[in-house]
Amino acid sequence: MAPTLKSMFEQTVLKYGSKEGLVDLRLGTRWTYHDWDLEVNRVAHALIASGVEKGDKVSTVLFNTAEFATTLFACAKIGAIFNPVNFRLTEKEIEFILTDAEPKVVLFEQATAKQIEPVAKALPTIEFWSIDTPDLSYASYYYDQIDGVTTEAILTTVEEDDPYAIMYTSGTTGLPKGVLHTHRDMVDQALVMTACLRITAQDRGLTVAPIFHCAELHCAFFPRVMIGASNVLMHHFDAPAMIETVKQEQITTVFAAPTMWNMILQEEFTKEDFSTLRQGLYGGAPMAPSLTTKLHSSIGVQLLQAYGMTEMGPAITALMEDEQLSKAGSAGRALLNHEVRVVRTNEDGPAEPDDICKPGELGEIIVRGPSMMKEYYKRPEATEEALYGGWYHSGDIGSFDEDGYLWVSDRVKDMIISGGENIYSREVEDALFDHPDVLDAAVIGEPDEVWGERVVAFIVKKGDELNEQALDEFCTSGNRLARYKRPRRYEFVQELPRNASGKLQKFKLRDRAKTTSE
Ligand code: ATP
Repeated sequence: MAPTLKSMFEQTVLKYGSKEGLVDLRLGTRWTYHDWDLEVNRVAHALIASGVEKGDKVSTVLFNTAEFATTLFACAKIGAIFNPVNFRLTEKEIEFILTDAEPKVVLFEQATAKQIEPVAKALPTIEFWSIDTPDLSYASYYYDQIDGVTTEAILTTVEEDDPYAIMYTSGTTGLPKGVLHTHRDMVDQALVMTACLRITAQDRGLTVAPIFHCAELHCAFFPRVMIGASNVLMHHFDAPAMIETVKQEQITTVFAAPTMWNMILQEEFTKEDFSTLRQGLYGGAPMAPSLTTKLHSSIGVQLLQAYGMTEMGPAITALMEDEQLSKAGSAGRALLNHEVRVVRTNEDGPAEPDDICKPGELGEIIVRGPSMMKEYYKRPEATEEALYGGWYHSGDIGSFDEDGYLWVSDRVKDMIISGGENIYSREVEDALFDHPDVLDAAVIGEPDEVWGERVVAFIVKKGDELNEQALDEFCTSGNRLARYKRPRRYEFVQELPRNASGKLQKFKLRDRAKTTSE
């Protein structure tokens, strides 16, 4: 029978049962794969006892916790569909997702209780389980649910085409959509990433990025579990604590979003602090080439970049360690068995998959591969449009260079058109990042009576020195940016709005620009 997440986990337990499988720094627990498996079985039986059957959904609104990792494999074992929800969402957004996904059980914790309480009251047919607070009027206690429950093996048959999860997109360009992935999609993604990262059972991986997001879960966590490596969970990202944990736990591999790597760079550390780390993975959002170079020289760790999207499982291309400096800023080349094309955009509908751009020509990035989603849950029309011609239409603009490397310029919806010229925000952001006093930067377009749109830059600066004039001179000096691309207005801010996975929420900046320019 073809492998599933259930069989993958069971195989690891058989082969590496006595090896450290899961460490939760918050609880102070250290489980071997065998201990972890018993917990998984216990939770699986508890879910069954609560009426969860094969095909039912179970949601989590959790940080990086052992309860998340255990419930995930419990669902995989009983054929329930796992629905990890972003813990940073507001109560309205969580209610939207839970109403759409219709789970039987939702797990949450103290840190998400504020958003959950009103949702639990609004959706009384769903059972809510708190993992860390007993005696809540609107929820049961997870540890009461699993207390004394059998750890016997789960005999449910789960097949490769069975749905494994519904993951909601970030909603940075519209309402979140539920992306349905099957077991086969995820086994494939885990295999491809295991090969790409060259993960072995000797590795010790650290989870600091949110585990609910597929970038961490599928590209880092699953490959490690599949191969029998050890997994250390930090509840949430904290730069100094992460540096300390890498040392304490002898971490060899970690994924972090570009914004997290940027925060690490602001800390004091030596290369010695990272001496056990053999690789750092980044992705999920663009990283400025200057940041890659700085990381490379200061941490001394081999870096890899992955590019992708929830719909693809997510990784679709990678820029390998030895390409980081020569091709800094590129998203790399397609992963094993995955295909990428850049095609001409079409104003009347989805781009035609065979209308392929020449190297250097910008177009829409379309992709296909074995880990592509099955569908958008309950949205057949959106599915048909996104998967037109058998290719996932990413909504990203990019190009290939002559060497076959992919360069991602912008999201179609973020591109700025000023005086009839297309301006890609990534190019302007990368140029601003080159300035030593720029800590973070984001660029959007705002309406302009003469030019249609003009470029506005939001800057987080280091120290007090930097001003608008200095940045304007910097952007136009040394052919850094063509004059029409340079920001016409700057706003200095304390921080930029980013979601839990480090992606810029440009819709929030557009709202802000509206009020400040009025
Ligand atoms: P929504 O579709 O609801 O707006 P989202 O697209 O933000 O949500 P994700 O699937 O998390 O949800 O994000 C995928 C997008 O993230 C890609 O289409 C791309 O724009 C961006 N992205 C991911 N990885 C990279 C990368 N390495 N470099 C540049 N951009 C990236």
